[in-house]
Amino acid sequence: MRANDKDMSENLVACAECDALHRWRPLAPGERARCIRCGALLYRRSRLSCDQMLALVSGALLVFLLANAFPIVDLEVQGIRNGASLIGSILALIEQDRLLVALLVFATTVLFPLVDLLTMFALFATLKCSCWAPWWRWSNCPIWPGSCPGCPCGPLAP
Ligand SMILES: [Zn+2]
Repeated sequence: MRANDKDMSENLVACAECDALHRWRPLAPGERARCIRCGALLYRRSRLSCDQMLALVSGALLVFLLANAFPIVDLEVQGIRNGASLIGSILALIEQDRLLVALLVFATTVLFPLVDLLTMFALFATLKCSCWAPWWRWSNCPIWPGSCPGCPCGPLAP
């Protein structure tokens, strides 16, 4: 394979539905590329930039931490005040020897959302860093080689 052939194949996008090959081209924010044969979505570009997505995920992380720091229920009856936070509820389940339920509540309300938010934060922080360091390209990424040709703030796979 010649170097020119390799460059040509890196700019081609195959339709997932009918295998038609299309030449990749940069899109405007919010624009979608569709297959000319079957109309399936090939790739799209988000309306939000890397900076906006990073700010959105950072805000979501902050709200998540604040939501878990304060009680979800706060009762006051005849001067006696009692509050329950999510972590406090999980600890109460553990004290009642309901370990499986406590694990399930912890995983679905704390662990999975936190992992999701941290993963998105790491992804967009990496994209932002690659904007700051133009020598880094997604085509060099060992995990996702060639998944996002050109600017990393460009189109993302559907
Ligand atoms: Zn197609």
